[in-house]
Amino acid sequence: MSDDKTIFEQIVDGEIPSFTVYEDETTYAFLDANPLAPGHTLVIPKHPYERLNDMPADEAGDVFGVISELAPAVEAAVGADASTVAVNNGEEAGQEVPHVHWHIIPRFADDSVGPIHRLFDGADLDDDEMEEIAAEIRANR
Ligand code: 5GP
Repeated sequence: MSDDKTIFEQIVDGEIPSFTVYEDETTYAFLDANPLAPGHTLVIPKHPYERLNDMPADEAGDVFGVISELAPAVEAAVGADASTVAVNNGEEAGQEVPHVHWHIIPRFADDSVGPIHRLFDGADLDDDEMEEIAAEIRANR
């Protein structure tokens, strides 16, 4: 049975129906069942990596290549003006399905949603703190 599979693996395997928009060897894309806007699409690696952090760079590159082709197609399909492309990368970031997925959400001039920046209060950092953080990131790559 499919008890150990993520919901999205079950979709890839055809055990749960979906409105498929793209499929290749490594990548699958389908309409979100609870769309935030018409055409809201999810793009996933077929392998059930939980987070972006778990993905080998070449597979992440494959998936992102598909995202770059699909975003304009999604916008065109629903007459959108733009799109928000985002991943909730980890539970604390709002990830509900533990199988990494990118959201392509069509955006419209009059949708009043605003940028992702609206989600955050912002962090007040001086140049020393910025450089320390940049150095940590370089060291942790
Ligand atoms: P997250 O909050 O993890 O970033 O997003 C999970 C997304 O998966 C949600 O937008 C939700 O609507 C979508 N979703 C959850 N279960 C299903 C499903 O069975 N089928 C489809 N097509 N989408 C799903």
